[in-house]
Amino acid sequence: MSQVRSIAVIGAGTMGSGIALTAATATAAGSRGGIKVFQIDVSAEQLQRARTYHEKTLKRNVEKSRMTQAQAEEAMALVSYHSDLAEAADADWAVEAVMEDIDLKKAVFGKMQATFRPDVVLATNTSSISITELAAAVGADAPRVVGMHFFNPVPVMKLVEVIKGRQTSEETTRRTIELAKLMGKSPVPANDRPGFVSNRVLMPLINEAFYAWAEGVAEPRHIDEIMTLGCNFPMGPLRLADYIGLDVCVMILNVMREGFGNDKYAPCPKLVELVEQGRLGDKSGSGVYEYPPRS
Ligand code: NAD
Repeated sequence: MSQVRSIAVIGAGTMGSGIALTAATATAAGSRGGIKVFQIDVSAEQLQRARTYHEKTLKRNVEKSRMTQAQAEEAMALVSYHSDLAEAADADWAVEAVMEDIDLKKAVFGKMQATFRPDVVLATNTSSISITELAAAVGADAPRVVGMHFFNPVPVMKLVEVIKGRQTSEETTRRTIELAKLMGKSPVPANDRPGFVSNRVLMPLINEAFYAWAEGVAEPRHIDEIMTLGCNFPMGPLRLADYIGLDVCVMILNVMREGFGNDKYAPCPKLVELVEQGRLGDKSGSGVYEYPPRS
């Protein structure tokens, strides 16, 4: 099977719902016909939330003349919602976006292996777990396991970091790049090392910004202003850390610290302190900065 006509997106949270919407939107009204999307989640509430997000986003896209009403309807019709993975067994592609928990992901990979045809690529949207380690959960099927690292918010961010595990085949990598392009993304390959490229470079920068704050070099808004005005960053590192989630930053830094056996990646105590106080960033209403409650 070389042409992908349907994909299963496992996990309907922040990333999974965005991946599903992007696949449907990018291919609706295309010359080759749209990609059918099976949106899967164990939680009925999350499935409903994803459906509402898809409907609202498509409606807004029509209002802003980003697409026609017919395209929006076609995109919506391409997505179906399921709590049972078996209902997606005919899919030509599988990408998981369940929580960043290695045991959960390994269990999901086992289910994916048992559910899909042997030619189906098994992709993961993990932001920090080793692709090679996840691939070990499917033994001889490791060559078809790949990292397909989308960025948040998925419909907006162009990059897909395509991560090659030690056993990922060239064919799998090539097909992943092809599918990402079809979804309107810009895929870039990288090898499977802790943090890949994106977080390897970004997280030490964020961490250093916390040290600058902790040492009183400048207050947060001035650190962010210096980096936006001086380095042309669209968003300062502390604001970005809040957006990503301070707990997620700590977790990724710890993965790199352990993976490289190097304490230079240890999270700044100031960052850890905020997480311990429950200040996780945008999602908790406060982090480095304060945020109004979400409607
Ligand atoms: P999330 O918590 O918003 O969503 C995870 C979803 O997985 C939930 O809806 C949950 O119900 C579902 N789920 C749990 N177990 C499942 C199972 N067995 N089968 C089906 N669904 C199941 O998480 P998220 O922020 O969307 O992150 C998902 C993945 O994407 C993680 O690996 C994360 O590291 C990665 N990622 C996140 C971001 C980000 O900014 N949020 C960016 C890049 C990559």
